[in-house]
Amino acid sequence: MITRFAPSPTGHLHLGHVFAAQVAFERAQENGGEFLLRFEDIDHTRVREEFYDAIEEDLQWLGIHWQQKPWRQRERLPQYADALEILKSQGMVYPCFCSRKEIERELAELANAPQGPEGPLYPGTCRNISATDVSWKMQQREPAWRLDTRKAGQKLTFHDRLHGTIAVDPTLLGDVVLARKDIDTSYHLAVVVDDHAQNISLVTRGEDLLPSTHIHRILQDLLNFEEPDYEHHQLIRDETGERLAKRNRSLSIANLRQKGKSASEVLKMIAD
Ligand code: GLU
Repeated sequence: MITRFAPSPTGHLHLGHVFAAQVAFERAQENGGEFLLRFEDIDHTRVREEFYDAIEEDLQWLGIHWQQKPWRQRERLPQYADALEILKSQGMVYPCFCSRKEIERELAELANAPQGPEGPLYPGTCRNISATDVSWKMQQREPAWRLDTRKAGQKLTFHDRLHGTIAVDPTLLGDVVLARKDIDTSYHLAVVVDDHAQNISLVTRGEDLLPSTHIHRILQDLLNFEEPDYEHHQLIRDETGERLAKRNRSLSIANLRQKGKSASEVLKMIAD
């Protein structure tokens, strides 16, 4: 078994992250497998250099260890570009020239805007632009690339250790962006390519990402990747049921360490 923890180096680790790291680490240990660390750093506008080391240091302090050198997604942009080329050649993605403002305007005008788990979805504006218009627009601005979910396989499933077998709903998140125009890739594309490249056999992550797995399963199918098993675990919440967010700096591991908490005390905070 190979598992991984994939934080973004955009801030210090907090208790919610540690819980996620701990689940991945424990599953690997329970099965005599391997645990990997991977940095999700494709969004260069949010990444800060000092957090790579800070995250590694906090994890090691907590007794969470890995053998292989952690991967950095920014070093793997050519691999994501290759995957995007395959999807282009399959006609499964289309260029989107809409700005955020244009999408908002369009949604406001629609009587029945498509809804996803977290609000309105992209209404498909650029799906049917003619080939001539596409080549003209390509000369004006760099497009984002969206998955054409209407063409996605209808009969896919994935297996989650806690939630059972789930039928993929291709339209759940709408035509998601697979390559942002500023970074040429996206979380969805990069995570699928890397989980495959690193032979991850069990993907553990928060249940807030369960909808994303529908997209990932479609991508695995299109790219001919084997499907991993999943465990979408609960998220750590405070006494009021509120999800612990990164914003809550008092719960960063760096802060707890500074206040004199021991590693076992910190681990106990997430065990309760
Ligand atoms: N960077 C994501 C997070 O911290 C991880 C996503 C994943 O494991 O697929 O929630």
